[in-house]
Amino acid sequence: MEEKAPPAPASAPVPALLSNPAEAATSTASGSSVPTEGEQPQSTDLPTSLPPSPFANLKLAKVPENLRRAQCPQCKSRKLLYCPECQIPLEPFVPRFDLPIHCDVIHHPQEKRTKSTAIHAAVLCPDHVTIHEFPSFPAFDPTESVLLYPCPEARSLHEIDLRRVKRVVFIDSTWQKAGSVLHHPTLANIPRVKIEAENTAFWRYQDVSPHCLATIEAIYYFFREFANAKDGRYEGQYDNLLYFFSYYYDKIQSYYRSDPSLKFSKIDGYIKY
Ligand SMILES: [Zn+2]
Repeated sequence: MEEKAPPAPASAPVPALLSNPAEAATSTASGSSVPTEGEQPQSTDLPTSLPPSPFANLKLAKVPENLRRAQCPQCKSRKLLYCPECQIPLEPFVPRFDLPIHCDVIHHPQEKRTKSTAIHAAVLCPDHVTIHEFPSFPAFDPTESVLLYPCPEARSLHEIDLRRVKRVVFIDSTWQKAGSVLHHPTLANIPRVKIEAENTAFWRYQDVSPHCLATIEAIYYFFREFANAKDGRYEGQYDNLLYFFSYYYDKIQSYYRSDPSLKFSKIDGYIKY
């Protein structure tokens, strides 16, 4: 019998920038689905002491229990929490907040848009996040923009004058496709920056590195580090960038823990809390 596939996108990995779950976390490659609508898994086989979730200490808005899908007022499809196609929240409790600088995401069209975790940022921070479909994007001013990409010439946020930085550009694509975006002539003069290595909590298989982040993780860690580098402190004000991501993470963890016969085969040791 086929092993139960994890509730994750089946497609290839992405760079510092991997992709999403709105739909993926609710359906698997084998067609089975994670309970989503009022049907909570029974956690009867939990170890007595579990390590804390990687998100346990974040200042995250609450997601009510027994959530059901809601109809998107624009495209009429039924989705959980937000509509990835229309990039809008579907519940009044979904947080909405500002970012200190504008965030531009260049999305590679061969990566399914509905599975992009970058969409999370666009839903949560609609006034400060723009998603562009490669190769259509504006020419960013190199004197006030930076591009997050971990290449050899990339500088850390502590090495540049952040007062001049008004926008940050992210590439939302697989590692394999990221090069074609990175080397686009329009981006040639945008200074590259990098962030400290962080471990991904993403459920999507990739074999590049544990530091290969989902795009929304990269966006979150960038803004956390930006605040620390610029203001000397970070007080959790951007933690909700991981609002949807942590929700799906918890959901996947509890789903697989609920039944010992389920095996999350994509990443060794992934189910652990
Ligand atoms: Zn919609």
